[in-house]
Amino acid sequence: KVREVGVATRASTLDQLREVSGKEGISLERYRNIGIMAHIDAGKTTTTERILYYTGRSDNIGEVHEGEATMDWMEQERERGITITSAATTAFWAGHRINIVDTPGHVDFTLEVERSLRVLDGAVAVFDGVAGVEPQTETVWRQANKYNVPRICFVNKMDRDGADFYKDVQMMKTQLGCNPVPIQLPIGQGKTFVGVYDLVSEKSVTWLGDKLGAEFEVKDEIPDGMADVIAEYRENLIEKAVEMDEEALEAYLESGEAPSVDVLKKCIRKGTLGFDFVPVLCGTAFKNKGVQPLLDAVVDYLPSPMDLEDTKGKDPKDPDQVLFRKNVASEKFAGLAFKVAADPFIGTLTFLRIYSGSIESGDMMINPRTKQKERFGRMVLMHSNKREEIKSASAGDIIAIVGLKDTTTGDTLCDMKDQIVLEKMDFPEPVIKVACEPLTQKDNDKLMESLAKLAAEDPSFRYSRDEESNQTVIEGMGELHLDIIVDRLRREFKVDCSVGAPQVAYRETITRPIENWYTHKKQSGGSGQYAKIKVSYEPNEGQGYEFVNDTTGAIIPREFIPGILR
Ligand code: GDP
Repeated sequence: KVREVGVATRASTLDQLREVSGKEGISLERYRNIGIMAHIDAGKTTTTERILYYTGRSDNIGEVHEGEATMDWMEQERERGITITSAATTAFWAGHRINIVDTPGHVDFTLEVERSLRVLDGAVAVFDGVAGVEPQTETVWRQANKYNVPRICFVNKMDRDGADFYKDVQMMKTQLGCNPVPIQLPIGQGKTFVGVYDLVSEKSVTWLGDKLGAEFEVKDEIPDGMADVIAEYRENLIEKAVEMDEEALEAYLESGEAPSVDVLKKCIRKGTLGFDFVPVLCGTAFKNKGVQPLLDAVVDYLPSPMDLEDTKGKDPKDPDQVLFRKNVASEKFAGLAFKVAADPFIGTLTFLRIYSGSIESGDMMINPRTKQKERFGRMVLMHSNKREEIKSASAGDIIAIVGLKDTTTGDTLCDMKDQIVLEKMDFPEPVIKVACEPLTQKDNDKLMESLAKLAAEDPSFRYSRDEESNQTVIEGMGELHLDIIVDRLRREFKVDCSVGAPQVAYRETITRPIENWYTHKKQSGGSGQYAKIKVSYEPNEGQGYEFVNDTTGAIIPREFIPGILR
């Protein structure tokens, strides 16, 4: 049986989908607001690009960092080959609407990860099949735990020499402390990788050639030499799954027969949403194998906004008063701004996750922080490299609003008569400082104004003027973070600056044990930037130390601490 994966067989535009699902549009249980998280280079961008291709919204499937990138739509992101902004992209798959909130993989953008985790409902964790669990995967994994984000794992790069699915699953257990349950097994590994065996439907899926994944073969047969391993892993899957559902468990224990595909899927969904286990899939995004089943798994196992608890917030007039909103369109409107981005073509875009109620373009909402009304004049959906103007949006949607007056990341926009301040994300404190010297007087005049704009977009970026030294000091999450700020100053605001160590030394406060800190700093020559944070550090079995920001509780990546245990 050879089947074509034609984008045309799927509803690939909002209009088509509305036709399919009636006038009211797509029902909320068919929404998936997801993020794709990974260590840098694991293949997040490639996987995202393939997803956009299969969902019919991306026009090109070229090499990720060449030409017109899709998720990485800022010029410097392309140049650096990393994803900085947290753009949200809307795609459609199998009658479902998938909003992909971009989560950066670089440690300097921990804040970006936090804010995307705050507004997404589920995530796909992408792993490099050879490297398995890497340091940043651990950091992001912990953040996802903190925000209660259900996950599925995708072991990517199965085509690489040395890719080892089984080793990676073991690493997830030992290093991430999760309960990984493979729902697929790779057919071949490295050069011999041709597809996956689906343990749920008991079918093998092999892709014919590397081209666009357009053709694949689905067979009921067990691939050669895999009978034992399939039997073992399917039994493991069934046993873990049926435990999630009393009825399924009883039926299984009584009859000894495996549950139907539908029951099995239902049980896996329960286990995933309840954090009992994490389904694991595999493939190679680059060679176009395994991405369609990954999309199916997003639909089958990741939560819809209706699976979430009611959204919590506070009464702006009485902060002790906790309020709840149901995640439905019939409630009063409330949304959380999670990203403000300057778009070179249409102006300031405010990305908003709508938690309750609905909105029509032209409606006025209030920002309880500023007590200002904001008009939702133009609303857009971002589709990889296209934008779609929309006239209305409701609970579950992630939209971008053009040209709001005074709304920053973390602000709530809500109904004027029924106000609420939604719970914010945590903003980690900046950890490094540098002095930023404008090259000319003209640059000097523009500098403060430009810094103010950048700070409004990015709550973990700070700037100040040191009266004594007459220097401008900028603070951020890491060297790369500040590099990018300086780069944006030059590019977007036409302000040229040179950057150096500030003349004033900012002393770090470390609660314990102080001796180690200074010894290590001296050993490194003490040339690094000083972190102005209160950190305590605790032995982390076999891995040196872990640094914890005492104010926010956030784990500080080791490379932020100059000269220590890198
Ligand atoms: P990101 O940093 O996580 O966004 O990773 P990218 O998607 O940019 O991928 C990093 C590098 O790995 C790029 O050179 C990709 O072409 C390559 N890559 C991505 N997926 C695969 C894969 O499945 N197999 C192989 N062999 N290379 C891949």
